[in-house]
Order: sequence, then structure tokens, then C-alpha cells
Amino acid sequence: MTMPSSNAGEAMYDLVEELFPVCRSITGEGLRWTLRRIGEEIPLVVHEIPTGTEVFDWVVPEEWNIRDAYVRNARGEKVIDFARSNLHVLNYSVPVRRTMPLEELRPHLHTVPEHPDWIPYRTSYYRESWGFCLTHNQLEGLEDGDYEVRIDSTLEPGSLSYGECVVPGETDEEVLISCHSCHPSLANDNLSGIAVAVALAKHLGDLESRRYTYRFLFIPGTIGSITWLARNREATQRIRHGLVLSCLGDAGSSTYKRSRRGDALIDRAVEHVLRHSDEDSEIEDFIPYGYDERQYCSPGFDLPVGCLMRTPNGRYPQYHTSADDLDLVRPDALADSLAKCRAVVEILENDEVFLNQNQYCEPQLGKRGLYRGMGGNAELPGFEMALLWLLNLSDGRNGLFDIAERAGLPFRVILQAAEALRSVDLLHPAEREATVRAERLDSPVHGSDDSAVCSAIMG
Ligand code: ZN
Repeated sequence: MTMPSSNAGEAMYDLVEELFPVCRSITGEGLRWTLRRIGEEIPLVVHEIPTGTEVFDWVVPEEWNIRDAYVRNARGEKVIDFARSNLHVLNYSVPVRRTMPLEELRPHLHTVPEHPDWIPYRTSYYRESWGFCLTHNQLEGLEDGDYEVRIDSTLEPGSLSYGECVVPGETDEEVLISCHSCHPSLANDNLSGIAVAVALAKHLGDLESRRYTYRFLFIPGTIGSITWLARNREATQRIRHGLVLSCLGDAGSSTYKRSRRGDALIDRAVEHVLRHSDEDSEIEDFIPYGYDERQYCSPGFDLPVGCLMRTPNGRYPQYHTSADDLDLVRPDALADSLAKCRAVVEILENDEVFLNQNQYCEPQLGKRGLYRGMGGNAELPGFEMALLWLLNLSDGRNGLFDIAERAGLPFRVILQAAEALRSVDLLHPAEREATVRAERLDSPVHGSDDSAVCSAIMG
């Protein structure tokens, strides 16, 4: 498998940059425009779910759109202006057109006092409200007096939009990749996940074949995953592995939050990839707080879906503020996140059980050109150890991923060594072998071993 090219980071960054200025929300034209733009990169089906649709315990809300918003002082100066930053308006604000004194306006103003130059990002999706977000310095500068307050928004029946990209595989068993697409001008939280998901979908589409079918969801946070799950309850039974992607572009190291199950293959695979990467990384247990994994891992579904991030939500000071901007996201961090996703996919796609064809003592690798002696010029570090581990553990009970874990070697090394052993006929896929060996079950020499082999394969 090839690594992402150095251009991959730049391409993802360019997409983040292009999407950044748009005012998105959980419904509305900004989200719709974003989905259309993603659809220019990968094949995307956009679904529109009408306002009022019941989705489990929730209802698809009215659609929110905004054209303009500002607060003007007595001298007619716009002291808060949506045109300068879409974070200035409380997301989902109802329309307002009034003049009021500062005391009356003040409860509707939100700031981050500890970072007086940053505008906070605030929402009020499910409770009718209005407000403005501004820097604390701006607030301090507001004089007493009357202010003209204008929010030119609409909140009316419409629909909730989400995008779905399916990359078909040889089986209808699915891998779910989900990212929220509802934040306005925030770069790391939201746009980095979108950019990595788009690049991953392209990569999968470029593969010659895929074992799994990959389903990418670009959805508004919480209500989007709830809506998708409500409409696809049956389809969830095909999901074998899944990842929520978020906050993948900052300079921090990777963090993986396990699925609710904690020991699913996706959990073990991501942990493996992070452990074998050259940086410190964090593995955390599931908690029912965070992104859409909360819905995928709700007890009724309990899907094997974890969440891959760099610095997690809420743990970097710029989170949900105007400082989560284009300077926070770095092309190299995006490229590194993509490489990790690709390495996880490589495990899911290639984990397979093989049988050693030469189980009585080690085969002589040197005469097959596979063994150059320790310290030789093997293809990858650990390659020769990988050969020995594969020959020893390929007894029909262990897949390549089990072997990589037991050997303490990166899956890629094990995979490459397995390909080498297959090329000289020392390893055969276990399924093919099961039939051959089942015919020999009556042999007293092989009997007990073989039944263990078969039950492992059937099980
Ligand atoms: Zn967020």
C-alpha cells in the first residue's frame, strides 16, 4: 500500500479553506451548499428530510437560514457584524428587528472573557432564542445607549440535509465513516473531519477492489446521526466497523476514543495503528459525550464505532471559538490523520487467516530467497521476524492482525511478509485449506489439530 502523497495534506487543506467562510448549521443553505461542494469531490447522495419528521425521540427541526445580522450603535456604526464573522450570531437565532438599550441587549451577548480577542461559537437549536457572540474586548467597548438589533434570519418548515457516499465492496458488510458537517466558520472541529473523510473516500474508490462496502455520512451533529439511524435501522445490522472523524487537523497527537464495546476489531485496529506510529497518542474509553458515536453506540444499536481525533473536543483552548481557524489546521496534520485512517482500512481489508503449508519444523527460507540472515537487507524492519511469526502462528486459529499484535510488529510488515510467503506457497488462505484438510480428518495423526482448525474457521 502506498502512503498518501505530500500533496494530500495540501489538497485537504485547500478544501478546508474553501469551506471555511460558509455559515453552516444543522439545517439550511450553508449545509446544503457544503454537501453540494463535497459532491463535486466524491459521489454523494443528498437526502432531504422534512421538518417535523419524527426520528426516535426527536423531531427534525424547522430549517434555519440567515442573510445578515448586526448591532448598530446610536451613531449608526455596526459594532457587531455578521458579515465580518458568521460566529457573531447565535446559531439558530430567530429573527429580530428592534432597538433596545444596552442593559436589555446584554443578556443576549456571549463572550469568552479568558480570551478577550476570540468570538465564541454558540447555538440554540432546540429552544427559540436569539443572541450575538463577540469578543470580550468588543463587549467592554460598548457604551450605554440604544442599539439597533437586526437578525435577518428565517426559521420555518423546510428540511434537514445530509450526504451519503457509498463505496461498494465485494460484500455488503459495511464500514461506517461519519463526520459532522454543521459548524460555521470553524476549521478543526468539523472541516478537518470532512476533508479527511473526502480524501479517504477517494482513496477507497481508487483501490482495485474492496472487501467491505464503505458508507460515508456527512451529517449535522446529533440530529443528523439520529435521523440517519432512524431511517436505516435495518441497514445498521450490516455495519461491522465504524469511525467518527473529527478534529483531525491540529498539531496535537492522535487520540482514539473506543467504541462502547471497547474491544471491537476497530478499537484494536486503531490502537494498533496509533501504537506503531512515531508519536505519542492517547487511547480513551468510551464515554457518552462527544460526537455522533453517542448515537451509534447507544445501547439499542451498540455499533462498533469509535472516534478518531487529534486533540479532542473541548481540550484545546480554541475549541468552539473564532480561534479554531485556518491557522490551527495544518496540512501535515491532515495528511498524518489520513495516513492513519488508511492504515486502519488496510487492516480491515486484509485481515485474513492463513495456514502454514509446512508445519513440521521451520521451512528453509534461505533456499526460497526469503531469508538473508538477521541484519540483512530485508524489505522492512522486522520483516524476517514477521516471516517466522507468520509460519508459527498460521495454524488456522490466528488472523494476520492477531499475529501482528502477538509479534508486536506493524500490520503492514506482517502483510508484506504474508504476501512473500504466499508467493512461495508456504501460506494458503485458511478457507481453501479447510476443505482439503477436512478430508484428512480421519487420520489419527492430524485428528485433534484439524478439528480445532475447523471449529476455529466455522466459529
Ligand atoms: Zn463542535
